Amino acid sequence: MTDVVGPSSLVDAEILACSRVLQSGYYVLGAEVEAFERTWAARCGSRFAVGVGNGMDAIEIGLRSLGIGDGDEVITTAMTAFATVLAILRCGAAPVFADISPDTAVLDPNSVESKITENTKAIVLVHLYGQAGPVDSLLALCESRNIKLVEDCAQAHLARFDDRPVGSIGMLGAWSFYPTKNLGAVGDAGAITTSDSHIASLSKQLRNYGQSNRYEHDVPGLNSRLDELQAAILSERLKYLTAWTERRRVIARKYQDSLESPHISPLTAPVDPESHVYHLFVVSSDHRLELQAHMERADVQTIVHYPVPAHRQFALGTTAGAPKLPATEAHAARCLSLPCHPGLSDEDVDRVIDVANEFRP
Ligand SMILES: *Cc1c(COP(=O)(O)O)cnc(C)c1O
Repeated sequence: MTDVVGPSSLVDAEILACSRVLQSGYYVLGAEVEAFERTWAARCGSRFAVGVGNGMDAIEIGLRSLGIGDGDEVITTAMTAFATVLAILRCGAAPVFADISPDTAVLDPNSVESKITENTKAIVLVHLYGQAGPVDSLLALCESRNIKLVEDCAQAHLARFDDRPVGSIGMLGAWSFYPTKNLGAVGDAGAITTSDSHIASLSKQLRNYGQSNRYEHDVPGLNSRLDELQAAILSERLKYLTAWTERRRVIARKYQDSLESPHISPLTAPVDPESHVYHLFVVSSDHRLELQAHMERADVQTIVHYPVPAHRQFALGTTAGAPKLPATEAHAARCLSLPCHPGLSDEDVDRVIDVANEFRP
Protein backbone atom coordinates (compact mmCIF):
# COMPACT_ATOMS: atom_id res chain seq x y z
CA MET A 1 0.00 0.00 0.00
CA THR A 2 1.29 3.43 -0.86
CA ASP A 3 0.99 6.28 1.56
CA VAL A 4 -0.22 9.64 0.37
CA VAL A 5 2.90 11.59 -0.47
CA GLY A 6 2.77 15.33 -0.52
CA PRO A 7 5.17 17.90 -1.93
CA SER A 8 8.67 18.10 -0.44
CA SER A 9 7.64 21.12 1.63
CA LEU A 10 5.18 18.81 3.40
CA VAL A 11 7.88 16.23 4.04
CA ASP A 12 10.08 18.98 5.47
CA ALA A 13 7.26 20.14 7.74
CA GLU A 14 6.64 16.56 8.85
CA ILE A 15 10.29 16.06 9.75
CA LEU A 16 10.22 19.28 11.75
CA ALA A 17 7.04 18.14 13.50
CA CYS A 18 8.63 14.82 14.41
CA SER A 19 11.75 16.42 15.82
CA ARG A 20 9.53 18.78 17.81
CA VAL A 21 7.89 15.73 19.40
CA LEU A 22 11.16 13.89 19.97
CA GLN A 23 12.69 16.91 21.64
CA SER A 24 9.63 17.44 23.84
CA GLY A 25 10.08 13.98 25.36
CA TYR A 26 6.27 13.71 25.58
CA TYR A 27 4.84 10.92 23.44
CA VAL A 28 1.24 10.02 24.27
CA LEU A 29 -1.85 12.24 24.69
CA GLY A 30 -0.08 15.59 24.94
CA ALA A 31 -0.16 19.03 23.38
CA GLU A 32 0.09 17.76 19.79
CA VAL A 33 -2.93 15.52 20.29
CA GLU A 34 -4.90 18.38 21.85
CA ALA A 35 -3.97 20.72 19.01
CA PHE A 36 -5.00 18.18 16.38
CA GLU A 37 -8.24 17.42 18.24
CA ARG A 38 -9.15 21.12 18.24
CA THR A 39 -8.44 21.59 14.54
CA TRP A 40 -10.14 18.37 13.51
CA ALA A 41 -13.26 19.17 15.56
CA ALA A 42 -13.46 22.57 13.87
CA ARG A 43 -13.02 21.08 10.39
CA CYS A 44 -15.81 18.61 11.16
CA GLY A 45 -18.21 21.20 12.56
CA SER A 46 -18.20 19.46 15.95
CA ARG A 47 -17.49 20.84 19.41
CA PHE A 48 -15.15 18.00 20.36
CA ALA A 49 -12.73 15.55 18.81
CA VAL A 50 -11.19 12.72 20.83
CA GLY A 51 -8.06 11.12 19.38
CA VAL A 52 -7.90 7.34 19.68
CA GLY A 53 -5.72 4.50 18.45
CA ASN A 54 -7.53 3.63 15.21
CA GLY A 55 -10.85 3.70 13.38
CA MET A 56 -12.15 0.43 14.73
CA ASP A 57 -11.60 1.57 18.32
CA ALA A 58 -13.28 4.88 17.48
CA ILE A 59 -16.46 3.00 16.57
CA GLU A 60 -16.28 0.73 19.64
CA ILE A 61 -15.57 3.60 22.03
CA GLY A 62 -18.27 5.69 20.38
CA LEU A 63 -20.88 2.95 20.76
CA ARG A 64 -19.84 2.25 24.33
CA SER A 65 -20.03 5.93 25.21
CA LEU A 66 -23.65 5.78 24.03
CA GLY A 67 -24.28 2.96 26.50
CA ILE A 68 -24.58 0.28 23.84
CA GLY A 69 -23.59 -3.21 24.92
CA ASP A 70 -24.85 -6.73 25.69
CA GLY A 71 -28.24 -7.61 24.26
CA ASP A 72 -28.42 -4.55 22.03
CA GLU A 73 -28.75 -4.68 18.25
CA VAL A 74 -26.89 -2.32 15.96
CA ILE A 75 -27.97 -2.06 12.34
CA THR A 76 -25.28 -1.54 9.75
CA THR A 77 -24.21 -2.47 6.24
CA ALA A 78 -22.39 -5.62 5.16
CA MET A 79 -20.66 -3.60 2.43
CA THR A 80 -17.94 -2.13 4.62
CA ALA A 81 -14.52 -2.78 6.09
CA PHE A 82 -15.00 -5.69 8.51
CA ALA A 83 -13.70 -3.40 11.28
CA THR A 84 -17.14 -1.72 11.41
CA VAL A 85 -18.70 -5.03 12.35
CA LEU A 86 -15.92 -6.08 14.72
CA ALA A 87 -16.34 -2.84 16.65
CA ILE A 88 -20.04 -3.60 17.15
CA LEU A 89 -19.20 -7.13 18.34
CA ARG A 90 -16.46 -5.85 20.63
CA CYS A 91 -18.85 -3.63 22.53
CA GLY A 92 -21.04 -6.67 23.15
CA ALA A 93 -23.86 -5.83 20.75
CA ALA A 94 -25.19 -7.87 17.82
CA PRO A 95 -24.66 -6.54 14.29
CA VAL A 96 -27.81 -6.66 12.16
CA PHE A 97 -27.31 -6.20 8.44
CA ALA A 98 -29.52 -4.07 6.24
CA ASP A 99 -29.23 -3.97 2.46
CA ILE A 100 -27.73 -1.20 0.31
CA SER A 101 -29.08 1.02 -2.45
CA PRO A 102 -27.80 -0.48 -5.70
CA ASP A 103 -26.88 2.84 -7.31
CA THR A 104 -24.64 4.08 -4.48
CA ALA A 105 -23.86 0.99 -2.35
CA VAL A 106 -24.62 2.86 0.88
CA LEU A 107 -27.32 1.76 3.36
CA ASP A 108 -30.87 1.73 2.04
CA PRO A 109 -33.12 3.46 4.63
CA ASN A 110 -36.09 1.25 3.73
CA SER A 111 -34.10 -1.88 4.40
CA VAL A 112 -32.82 -0.35 7.67
CA GLU A 113 -36.39 0.34 8.76
CA SER A 114 -37.39 -3.25 8.07
CA LYS A 115 -34.61 -4.51 10.39
CA ILE A 116 -35.59 -2.44 13.43
CA THR A 117 -36.68 -4.41 16.50
CA GLU A 118 -37.27 -3.38 20.11
CA ASN A 119 -33.60 -4.19 20.75
CA THR A 120 -32.25 -1.82 18.09
CA LYS A 121 -30.20 0.81 19.88
CA ALA A 122 -28.05 2.28 17.12
CA ILE A 123 -27.47 2.50 13.40
CA VAL A 124 -23.90 2.67 12.16
CA LEU A 125 -24.07 4.50 8.84
CA VAL A 126 -20.93 3.99 6.76
CA HIS A 127 -20.23 6.89 4.40
CA LEU A 128 -18.93 4.36 1.92
CA TYR A 129 -16.28 5.20 -0.68
CA GLY A 130 -16.31 8.83 0.50
CA GLN A 131 -19.97 9.65 -0.18
CA ALA A 132 -22.28 10.95 2.52
CA GLY A 133 -24.98 8.37 3.20
CA PRO A 134 -28.71 9.12 3.57
CA VAL A 135 -28.41 10.91 6.92
CA ASP A 136 -31.69 12.82 6.59
CA SER A 137 -33.94 9.78 6.27
CA LEU A 138 -31.96 7.81 8.86
CA LEU A 139 -32.05 10.72 11.32
CA ALA A 140 -35.81 10.92 10.94
CA LEU A 141 -36.06 7.17 11.53
CA CYS A 142 -33.78 7.39 14.58
CA GLU A 143 -35.71 10.25 16.13
CA SER A 144 -39.06 8.53 15.79
CA ARG A 145 -37.74 5.24 17.25
CA ASN A 146 -35.32 6.52 19.90
CA ILE A 147 -32.29 5.04 18.11
CA LYS A 148 -28.81 6.58 18.03
CA LEU A 149 -27.17 7.42 14.70
CA VAL A 150 -23.42 6.78 14.56
CA GLU A 151 -21.45 7.80 11.47
CA ASP A 152 -18.54 5.65 10.30
CA CYS A 153 -16.54 8.38 8.56
CA ALA A 154 -13.38 6.36 7.95
CA GLN A 155 -13.66 6.90 4.18
CA ALA A 156 -15.27 10.33 4.12
CA HIS A 157 -12.98 13.06 5.48
CA LEU A 158 -14.53 16.46 4.62
CA ALA A 159 -17.60 15.00 2.88
CA ARG A 160 -20.78 17.00 3.50
CA PHE A 161 -24.50 16.35 3.55
CA ASP A 162 -26.28 19.54 2.53
CA ASP A 163 -24.18 22.00 4.46
CA ARG A 164 -23.24 19.73 7.34
CA PRO A 165 -19.89 17.93 7.50
CA VAL A 166 -20.23 14.19 8.02
CA GLY A 167 -19.36 13.21 11.56
CA SER A 168 -21.34 16.16 12.94
CA ILE A 169 -24.81 14.93 12.02
CA GLY A 170 -25.43 11.83 14.15
CA MET A 171 -24.57 11.49 17.84
CA LEU A 172 -20.95 11.04 16.87
CA GLY A 173 -18.60 10.40 13.98
CA ALA A 174 -15.86 7.75 14.05
CA TRP A 175 -12.72 8.42 12.01
CA SER A 176 -9.76 6.39 10.87
CA PHE A 177 -6.45 7.97 9.88
CA TYR A 178 -4.94 4.73 8.64
CA PRO A 179 -2.23 5.67 6.09
CA THR A 180 -4.36 4.94 3.00
CA LYS A 181 -7.39 6.99 4.12
CA ASN A 182 -8.00 10.46 2.66
CA LEU A 183 -6.26 11.88 5.74
CA GLY A 184 -3.69 9.32 6.84
CA ALA A 185 -1.08 9.16 9.58
CA VAL A 186 2.19 7.21 9.40
CA GLY A 187 0.68 4.36 11.38
CA ASP A 188 -2.62 3.70 13.11
CA ALA A 189 -4.69 6.62 14.35
CA GLY A 190 -8.36 7.48 14.79
CA ALA A 191 -10.78 9.94 16.36
CA ILE A 192 -14.33 10.48 17.53
CA THR A 193 -16.12 13.74 16.79
CA THR A 194 -19.20 14.85 18.70
CA SER A 195 -20.87 17.98 20.00
CA ASP A 196 -22.13 16.18 23.12
CA SER A 197 -19.82 16.90 26.07
CA HIS A 198 -20.89 13.73 27.89
CA ILE A 199 -19.95 11.52 24.92
CA ALA A 200 -16.65 13.39 24.56
CA SER A 201 -15.65 12.98 28.20
CA LEU A 202 -16.76 9.34 28.34
CA SER A 203 -14.78 8.64 25.15
CA LYS A 204 -11.71 10.25 26.72
CA GLN A 205 -12.16 8.03 29.73
CA LEU A 206 -12.70 4.87 27.68
CA ARG A 207 -9.59 5.41 25.53
CA ASN A 208 -7.42 5.55 28.66
CA TYR A 209 -8.29 2.42 30.73
CA GLY A 210 -11.62 3.94 31.74
CA GLN A 211 -9.97 6.19 34.27
CA SER A 212 -11.49 9.47 35.37
CA ASN A 213 -8.63 10.63 37.57
CA ARG A 214 -5.27 8.93 37.53
CA TYR A 215 -5.60 5.38 38.93
CA GLU A 216 -9.36 5.72 39.42
CA HIS A 217 -11.26 3.48 37.00
CA ASP A 218 -14.99 4.10 36.71
CA VAL A 219 -15.59 1.93 33.64
CA PRO A 220 -13.64 -0.96 32.13
CA GLY A 221 -11.91 0.94 29.34
CA LEU A 222 -9.44 0.23 26.57
CA ASN A 223 -5.94 1.32 25.85
CA SER A 224 -6.53 3.26 22.65
CA ARG A 225 -4.64 6.52 22.81
CA LEU A 226 -3.48 8.73 19.99
CA ASP A 227 0.24 9.42 20.18
CA GLU A 228 2.04 12.71 19.71
CA LEU A 229 3.96 11.73 16.57
CA GLN A 230 0.82 10.71 14.71
CA ALA A 231 -1.02 13.83 15.86
CA ALA A 232 1.86 16.09 14.79
CA ILE A 233 1.98 14.45 11.35
CA LEU A 234 -1.81 14.66 11.00
CA SER A 235 -1.77 18.39 11.80
CA GLU A 236 0.73 18.99 8.99
CA ARG A 237 -1.13 16.81 6.47
CA LEU A 238 -4.46 18.36 7.37
CA LYS A 239 -3.23 21.59 5.77
CA TYR A 240 -3.26 19.78 2.41
CA LEU A 241 -6.52 17.90 2.81
CA THR A 242 -8.71 20.42 0.97
CA ALA A 243 -6.36 20.42 -2.03
CA TRP A 244 -6.09 16.61 -2.02
CA THR A 245 -9.87 16.32 -1.83
CA GLU A 246 -10.32 18.71 -4.76
CA ARG A 247 -7.82 16.64 -6.77
CA ARG A 248 -9.79 13.45 -6.02
CA ARG A 249 -12.94 15.19 -7.27
CA VAL A 250 -11.23 16.29 -10.49
CA ILE A 251 -10.07 12.72 -11.14
CA ALA A 252 -13.54 11.34 -10.39
CA ARG A 253 -15.18 13.86 -12.72
CA LYS A 254 -12.79 12.85 -15.47
CA TYR A 255 -13.69 9.20 -14.99
CA GLN A 256 -17.41 10.01 -14.92
CA ASP A 257 -17.12 12.01 -18.16
CA SER A 258 -14.73 9.77 -20.08
CA LEU A 259 -15.47 6.13 -19.28
CA GLU A 260 -17.32 4.89 -22.36
CA SER A 261 -17.34 1.10 -22.22
CA PRO A 262 -20.87 -0.32 -22.09
CA HIS A 263 -19.39 -2.97 -19.77
CA ILE A 264 -18.24 -0.51 -17.09
CA SER A 265 -20.76 1.51 -15.05
CA PRO A 266 -19.55 4.03 -12.48
CA LEU A 267 -21.73 4.29 -9.38
CA THR A 268 -24.16 7.19 -9.55
CA ALA A 269 -22.46 10.56 -9.14
CA PRO A 270 -24.03 12.62 -6.34
CA VAL A 271 -26.13 15.68 -7.17
CA ASP A 272 -24.11 17.73 -4.68
CA PRO A 273 -20.38 17.39 -5.50
CA GLU A 274 -19.44 18.47 -1.95
CA SER A 275 -21.05 15.33 -0.59
CA HIS A 276 -18.43 13.00 -2.09
CA VAL A 277 -14.69 12.99 -1.39
CA TYR A 278 -13.91 9.95 -3.59
CA HIS A 279 -11.92 7.88 -1.17
CA LEU A 280 -12.53 5.29 -3.89
CA PHE A 281 -13.86 5.51 -7.43
CA VAL A 282 -15.99 2.44 -7.85
CA VAL A 283 -17.45 1.00 -11.03
CA SER A 284 -19.48 -2.10 -11.55
CA SER A 285 -19.16 -4.62 -14.33
CA ASP A 286 -20.79 -7.93 -15.18
CA HIS A 287 -17.31 -9.02 -16.29
CA ARG A 288 -15.40 -7.91 -13.22
CA LEU A 289 -12.75 -10.67 -13.24
CA GLU A 290 -11.96 -10.14 -16.92
CA LEU A 291 -11.93 -6.37 -16.48
CA GLN A 292 -9.53 -6.63 -13.57
CA ALA A 293 -7.22 -8.92 -15.57
CA HIS A 294 -7.38 -6.54 -18.55
CA MET A 295 -6.38 -3.58 -16.35
CA GLU A 296 -3.66 -5.65 -14.68
CA ARG A 297 -2.12 -6.55 -18.06
CA ALA A 298 -1.79 -2.81 -18.75
CA ASP A 299 -0.23 -2.36 -15.32
CA VAL A 300 -3.27 -0.59 -13.84
CA GLN A 301 -3.91 -1.77 -10.29
CA THR A 302 -7.52 -2.20 -9.23
CA ILE A 303 -8.98 -3.56 -5.99
CA VAL A 304 -12.38 -4.95 -5.01
CA HIS A 305 -14.08 -3.19 -2.08
CA TYR A 306 -15.44 -5.60 -0.89
CA PRO A 307 -15.48 -9.10 -2.41
CA VAL A 308 -16.94 -10.87 0.67
CA PRO A 309 -19.64 -8.83 2.39
CA ALA A 310 -19.50 -8.83 6.19
CA HIS A 311 -22.55 -11.06 6.69
CA ARG A 312 -20.77 -13.88 4.85
CA GLN A 313 -17.48 -13.63 6.76
CA PHE A 314 -16.49 -16.88 8.43
CA ALA A 315 -15.62 -15.01 11.63
CA LEU A 316 -19.30 -14.36 12.25
CA GLY A 317 -20.00 -18.07 12.27
CA THR A 318 -23.47 -17.56 10.85
CA THR A 319 -22.81 -18.38 7.20
CA ALA A 320 -25.60 -20.96 6.99
CA GLY A 321 -28.15 -18.52 8.30
CA ALA A 322 -26.69 -15.42 6.63
CA PRO A 323 -29.41 -12.91 5.84
CA LYS A 324 -30.39 -12.34 2.24
CA LEU A 325 -29.06 -9.02 1.05
CA PRO A 326 -29.59 -9.11 -2.72
CA ALA A 327 -28.25 -5.65 -3.53
CA THR A 328 -25.19 -6.22 -1.34
CA GLU A 329 -24.50 -9.60 -2.97
CA ALA A 330 -24.92 -8.17 -6.46
CA HIS A 331 -22.58 -5.28 -5.72
CA ALA A 332 -19.93 -7.53 -4.14
CA ALA A 333 -19.91 -9.63 -7.31
CA ARG A 334 -19.50 -6.68 -9.70
CA CYS A 335 -17.68 -3.80 -8.00
CA LEU A 336 -14.15 -2.68 -8.86
CA SER A 337 -12.21 0.33 -7.57
CA LEU A 338 -10.17 2.25 -10.15
CA PRO A 339 -7.04 4.15 -9.07
CA CYS A 340 -8.14 7.40 -7.43
CA HIS A 341 -5.76 9.34 -5.22
CA PRO A 342 -4.22 12.81 -5.32
CA GLY A 343 -0.82 11.44 -6.34
CA LEU A 344 -2.11 10.50 -9.83
CA SER A 345 -1.01 12.75 -12.68
CA ASP A 346 -3.34 13.76 -15.54
CA GLU A 347 -1.44 11.30 -17.75
CA ASP A 348 -2.01 8.50 -15.24
CA VAL A 349 -5.72 9.23 -15.24
CA ASP A 350 -5.89 9.40 -19.06
CA ARG A 351 -4.14 6.05 -19.24
CA VAL A 352 -6.60 4.42 -16.86
CA ILE A 353 -9.43 5.78 -19.00
CA ASP A 354 -7.85 4.62 -22.28
CA VAL A 355 -7.19 1.13 -20.94
CA ALA A 356 -10.71 0.87 -19.51
CA ASN A 357 -12.27 2.08 -22.76
CA GLU A 358 -10.39 -0.61 -24.69
CA PHE A 359 -12.01 -3.34 -22.59
CA ARG A 360 -13.84 -6.02 -24.61
CA PRO A 361 -15.12 -8.96 -22.56
C1 LIG B 1 -10.62 1.73 7.49
C2 LIG B 1 -12.00 1.58 7.96
C3 LIG B 1 -12.31 1.25 9.29
C4 LIG B 1 -11.27 0.85 10.29
O1 LIG B 1 -10.28 1.79 10.53
P1 LIG B 1 -8.88 1.30 11.18
O2 LIG B 1 -8.19 2.59 11.49
O3 LIG B 1 -8.19 0.48 10.16
O4 LIG B 1 -9.22 0.52 12.41
C5 LIG B 1 -13.63 1.23 9.69
N1 LIG B 1 -14.62 1.49 8.81
C6 LIG B 1 -14.37 1.76 7.52
C7 LIG B 1 -15.52 2.04 6.60
C8 LIG B 1 -13.06 1.81 7.03
O5 LIG B 1 -12.84 2.08 5.75
